[in-house]
Amino acid sequence: MTRKYTSIIIVLCWLLPFFSSAQVKNKPAFRLVPLGVLGGIDESNLSAYMLATNGTNNYVCLDAGTLHAGIVKAVENKAFDVPAEKVLRQYIKGYFISHAHLDHLAGLIINSPDDSTKNIYGLQSTLETLKNHYFTWASWANFADQGEAPALKKFRYQPLTPGTETAIENTDMKVQAFPLSHSNLTSTAFLVHSADAYTLYLGDTGADTIEKSTNMQNLWQAIAPLIKAKQLKAIMIEVSFPDEQPDKTLFGHLTPHWLMAEMDKLAALTGTDAIKGLNIVVTHLKPPAINIVKIKAELKLENKLRLNLIYPQQGKPLTF
Ligand SMILES: [Zn+2]
Ligand SMILES: [Zn+2]
Repeated sequence: MTRKYTSIIIVLCWLLPFFSSAQVKNKPAFRLVPLGVLGGIDESNLSAYMLATNGTNNYVCLDAGTLHAGIVKAVENKAFDVPAEKVLRQYIKGYFISHAHLDHLAGLIINSPDDSTKNIYGLQSTLETLKNHYFTWASWANFADQGEAPALKKFRYQPLTPGTETAIENTDMKVQAFPLSHSNLTSTAFLVHSADAYTLYLGDTGADTIEKSTNMQNLWQAIAPLIKAKQLKAIMIEVSFPDEQPDKTLFGHLTPHWLMAEMDKLAALTGTDAIKGLNIVVTHLKPPAINIVKIKAELKLENKLRLNLIYPQQGKPLTF
C-alpha cells in the first residue's frame, strides 16, 4: 500500500513541472486597455492604448489622443479598481508618441496639469514638434524638461534610436522603435518586449507601394522571426479608410486592401501557417459610422490569411 502511494506521488512530482509550464504558456503576456480607438472627429475617443505586462499596473500609453474620457470609461467598466486620477498619475508610467498629429497627443497636452512626472518616448523628430509647437508658452505651458523657458520639467523627453532596444522606466518592459512613412511625416512603430513576449504597435502609416518606401518591409523582416517563434502576441495597426478611397487621397493611411497587401508581404516571410490566427488589433478607423461598417466588411472578405481581426473598444480591456 505505502509503496503504491509513494509511486503515485513520484509520478505526480514528475508531471507537475509539465502542468505548470503549460499554465505559464497559456497565461496572456500583455493586458491592453484602449482609452481611444477612432481615427478622427470624436475628440473623446482618439488613439490611446494602455499596455502592461499582464498582472502588473505598470502601463505605457501608446499614443495619447484621448486620456481622461477613456480612463473614466475604463473605470466605469471596472477595467481598473482605482479612481481615474490614480490611473493617470500612477498606472501610466510613460507615453509613446508615434507622431505629432493632434489626434495622437491632444490628451497628453490637455491632461498635463494633472499628470505626474514621467517620460515621453518617441523619435527625435516627433519630440522636436512637441518641444517647438505644443509644450510652448504661446500654445500651452512648457511641462517638459527642454524647450522654451521656464521648463516645468514634469515630462522628460526620451528619444528612441531605431535599431536599439530601450528599457522603459518603472516597468519591466523594453521598446524598440521603427520609422514608418505617413505622408509628409515620419511616424513610428513600437515593438514592446516583456519577458519572452512582444506586442507591435504601429502609428499612422501608408503602404510601402503608395508611400514609395521600404519602412514596412524592414519592419516585417524584423518581426517575422518573432511570429515564427510564436513570441509576437499581437500587431496593432491602422485601417483608416474603406477601399473606395482613391490611392491619391490616402494621406499616409491604410485601407483594407492595403493592409492585406502588407500582410501578404509579411506572410511571404513567415509562411502562411505561422501567421494564421495572429491577433491583428485594427486601430484608427475613421468616422462616419457607415465607413467603419464598410471597413469591417471588407476586412472580413479580404482576410485570406485567416488573421484574428480584433476591433478594440474604448475602456474594454483585452489580454493576449
Ligand atoms: Zn491619426
Ligand atoms: Zn497622423
